Amino acid sequence: MGHDEWVAQRESGIDALGAGIDRVTQWAQSYLRSLADRDVRTDVEWGEVLKGIEQSPPMEGCSIESIEGLIQEADNEFVERLVHWQSPRFFAYFPCSSSVPAILGELMSAVLNVNGMLWSTSPACTELEVRVMDWCAQMFGLDDGFRFDRSEKGGGCIQGTASEAVVAALVAARRRCTSRGVDRSKVTVYTSDQAHSSVVKAAMVCGLADDAEDRSRVRVIETDAELRMDSVALERSMRADIEAGLVPMMVVATVGTTSTGAVDPLGSIADVIGEVGGHKAWLHVDAAWAGAAAVCPEHRGMMEGVERADSVCINPHKWLLTNFDCDLFWVRDRDVLVDSMSITPAYLRDKASESGVVDYRDWHIALGRRMRSLKLWMVIRCFGIEGLREHIRGHVQLAQRVERWVEQNSRVELACDRMLGLVCFRVLGDSGLTSELVERINARGRVMITHSTVPIGEGRAQESIARVSVGTPGVGEADIDTLIEELEEVLDSLC
Ligand code: PLP
Repeated sequence: MGHDEWVAQRESGIDALGAGIDRVTQWAQSYLRSLADRDVRTDVEWGEVLKGIEQSPPMEGCSIESIEGLIQEADNEFVERLVHWQSPRFFAYFPCSSSVPAILGELMSAVLNVNGMLWSTSPACTELEVRVMDWCAQMFGLDDGFRFDRSEKGGGCIQGTASEAVVAALVAARRRCTSRGVDRSKVTVYTSDQAHSSVVKAAMVCGLADDAEDRSRVRVIETDAELRMDSVALERSMRADIEAGLVPMMVVATVGTTSTGAVDPLGSIADVIGEVGGHKAWLHVDAAWAGAAAVCPEHRGMMEGVERADSVCINPHKWLLTNFDCDLFWVRDRDVLVDSMSITPAYLRDKASESGVVDYRDWHIALGRRMRSLKLWMVIRCFGIEGLREHIRGHVQLAQRVERWVEQNSRVELACDRMLGLVCFRVLGDSGLTSELVERINARGRVMITHSTVPIGEGRAQESIARVSVGTPGVGEADIDTLIEELEEVLDSLC
């Protein structure tokens, strides 16, 4: 095919776009409606999907006009073999949030396909993100120090994930140390034994740990009876390190831990950082899941102390109706973040950059970046702050029903207090029963929940817990009824 023919085909492809989008729209509506009746998951053997896909890519394409067949094939071959994360009976991990405005914003972003690495490479991409980050700082009650429009150096950007955000925080923290003359081989990082694995992973990525068990420069601080970082243990550990000639560089605290939703005492941690002296460690707050609830004033107490943090992240893709991926990352000193990753080859040199515009290219690892702000802007414009509050409050109420069921059931007990939409419980009796319950529930497929282990009780032994996380957009009373029915039936067979 000559190039002109190829271009002509592309033009006819644009004509076919409407039909294709109509077809995808029909598929999307029928898929989303089907979730009410579908199981959340079905058993799939490794290799089952691979078997249905040719080993080599096709030499000849099928033409854009016949794309309908591909949509059908994708539905038959792949959709059936996915876990349906948008199912209203998905109570596992932390669900992935979504909504119609978010999906449409994502689609528009895919059509535009801009790269907002520099302000000048797509001005609206950067400026919308700047404004949306400031909107979100207000929505979550963050202080002015994290805002572009209210501070000299604060601001935020959209990262893909909280894991990327903690890497960015870590390199910024290290930059702050080294710019003050600290030897980079001496720096140490602190987090709790309940922090997400992404913190230790960030230390591994940044060369502070050889593997997940390497504790030469990563300190995993014990937690108290409520699974919150023990600030006395943190102080002890930091002082011991300073005594040994090391330099505490960063503390990562969590608001809403993955296993149980525990909230680290940000104020006491900030006090410790201030009191141990030496180089002041960077405080990063990981509020990836729970942070979304700060949109409701009544849930902001958990964030108390964040006004003393250097950076914070919250993931709208977990609980704020914005589809994956979307992590909001704010810093108090954007200069140090940018310095930590700034490198400017000739092809990125730009007059606008020199005049001081925000260029997001050095706020994260990747150079290129897509227009993620569009979907978030659509979500905020469509629902408004009140709508987002209702969404969170509705889920919290549904989780309270699960909590009441646990409290009234003689075969199970709460493993800890409910946190927002997360209820953790265990089966009374033999220690293996809780994990067996989760396994059997998930094997049935009607609902999906998660198992974890946490140090609870007098001896702080690792105990199994079952986690029910209420967070998918379509979840309602009937789905909680189904969850309870499933739990009761499996408990009947277990106990
Ligand atoms: N932090 C917390 C508290 C989490 O619960 C999770 C994931 O569940 C993460 C970080 C990692 O999130 P991401 O997938 O955005 O990297």
